[in-house]
Amino acid sequence: MSDVVATSPAGSTAKRAELTRRRSSCKRQIPCVSVCHERYMENPFLGKEESFSTEPLNSLDDYTEAALGTMQRIYHHYSEVPITEPSPDVYLGTAGIAYACNRVASMKIPQSERDMLLGMGARLIQSSQKAQNFEHQGLFLGPVGVAVVAALFYKTLGDEKRAQSALESFAKLCETVEADIDLAGGKNSGDEVLFGRTGYLMGFLELWKVFPNNKILEGVDVKKIILAVLESGRKCSKSRGLTDRCPLFYYCMGMDFVGPAHGLSGIYHCLLCFPSVLKAVPGAEEDIKCSVDFVLQQQFPSGNFPMKYREDRDELIHWCHGAPGLVYMLAKAYLVWKDKKYLDACISCGNITWQKGLLRKGPGICHGIAGNGYAFILLYQLTGQVEWLSKAECFADLVLQPSTKEKCTVPDHPYSLYEGIAGTACYFADLTNPNHSSFPFSEVFIDY
Ligand SMILES: [Zn+2]
Repeated sequence: MSDVVATSPAGSTAKRAELTRRRSSCKRQIPCVSVCHERYMENPFLGKEESFSTEPLNSLDDYTEAALGTMQRIYHHYSEVPITEPSPDVYLGTAGIAYACNRVASMKIPQSERDMLLGMGARLIQSSQKAQNFEHQGLFLGPVGVAVVAALFYKTLGDEKRAQSALESFAKLCETVEADIDLAGGKNSGDEVLFGRTGYLMGFLELWKVFPNNKILEGVDVKKIILAVLESGRKCSKSRGLTDRCPLFYYCMGMDFVGPAHGLSGIYHCLLCFPSVLKAVPGAEEDIKCSVDFVLQQQFPSGNFPMKYREDRDELIHWCHGAPGLVYMLAKAYLVWKDKKYLDACISCGNITWQKGLLRKGPGICHGIAGNGYAFILLYQLTGQVEWLSKAECFADLVLQPSTKEKCTVPDHPYSLYEGIAGTACYFADLTNPNHSSFPFSEVFIDY
């Protein structure tokens, strides 16, 4: 197995030089958000895109400062409440915030700030590791996500022994997942990223990136998990009479979701990251391609996608449901099959996200402004067009504006990785190194 990482067009030396030149310490004027709709705010940069080619981008220091300032808010919160609050998981709890500590600590920052982040992260991940009763399985809400974050975190900390121990916990949890996944009383096919089997695989990829050729990871039988996902999808497709149109079909919480967390697109994206396994399974790649095309047909003329198969409501523009989330599967499909229709679909996703993606649900990454901004970073990586990076920076600048904040609701878990500001801190951090950034656990430019 290899750890081949595709180089995005944006990774070229010329592009990097252009970015460095345009990024000066000159701060641009940020327009205020004034018009609000039910779900989103009018993007005040809309119609001003031409200025992106002449106005300098923000300084890297601005986003470093924003990432650190955001993490300091979390640090102060946890100096006043028990570290066990609210839960141990990646999605809403302490493991997710430890993930953000790790991500921001890997930036070029002063040692005192790194010490603050690693100290907080160590307390948080240790608290997650002590937790016994997880309500769910899976990457986002179960112990497997905690094991992944612990391995990443201890690696950064230089604690090789604990990192290896966390990798062993991860490998053990993977041993029976192909059979043991919680099907929630028949309401889940058991395969989606959120609670299901592909979440284990996305966790595996995140680990493989940091621990290439690690013996413990090489011992994980990813093929067995992938075969279980394929078999489950074929069975479900047959029972729904979709074999000809969508040979791999899945459901979660009793619904036919298409987004990356709960639904079809996250599963197909994940499977496509394991080309050598797919090649060894007759018909697997063909079935995935047919299924990806089936999802692509659900794209609305607006560029957005429905939350569920056959739903005609063109409403949600979130990472979890809608265009900014579907873009990951489409980008992976474009990289694998080089068919321009996938790239065009990605760009349509980016355009609708630019128009209506300034969400009022707050700054987070699951259904918030930063999560939608990640779609622009991916489009920049995919096309090499700096305009997309400018759009990602506009969303970051708007998140920081008081006039935006006052028009947004406060999430139930305001410090968490997926709903709260820990994810926003990752977004700011990623803007300082956009050629190597990715939405957490949604790496596109990696194959195993
Ligand atoms: Zn969401």
